Amino acid sequence: MTRHPLEKFRFCPVCGSSEWVINNEKSKRCLHCNFVYYANVSAAVAVFIRNKEGALLVCRRKKNPAAGTLDLPGGFVDIRETAQEAVIREIHEELGIHVTSMTFLTSIPNEYVYSDMTIHTLDLLFDCEVGDFSCMEAADDVADAFFMPLNTISPDDFGLNSIKKGIIAFLNKNI
Ligand SMILES: [Zn+2]
Repeated sequence: MTRHPLEKFRFCPVCGSSEWVINNEKSKRCLHCNFVYYANVSAAVAVFIRNKEGALLVCRRKKNPAAGTLDLPGGFVDIRETAQEAVIREIHEELGIHVTSMTFLTSIPNEYVYSDMTIHTLDLLFDCEVGDFSCMEAADDVADAFFMPLNTISPDDFGLNSIKKGIIAFLNKNI
């Protein structure tokens, strides 16, 4: 059974009424004050970066969901930010390195459980180049970052479903 994305929201956030009912599959409406709220997807970016030898830059997640599993660098797009700006900001925040060029690859929907609530995301995957890795250091919500030759990567080691799908497509050269 598909759960309504706003099932945890039991009262109208404007007037507090409990007459807060399902309006359609992605919104709820207040029967008291007529406020309507839509649960739209949250945009996120995930980035493929390879070194001169062709090995892929992989991170280990510090935080839940899926703490301890492998991940691609990236994160949520901020309000009023472009996806390209999010790529540059996240890679610098997490790894201290600078993206010099990027190509959009594909997008993959995901369900991201945070604070015991399912957040519906759309992960935007980019292929990026970085000129200088000498100052690379894992920070922010990344526990560790390292390069893996493509023939040593196992998609099941990636804890987030969308990233696992992206890794499979990348290894199969489908993106
Ligand atoms: Zn209301």
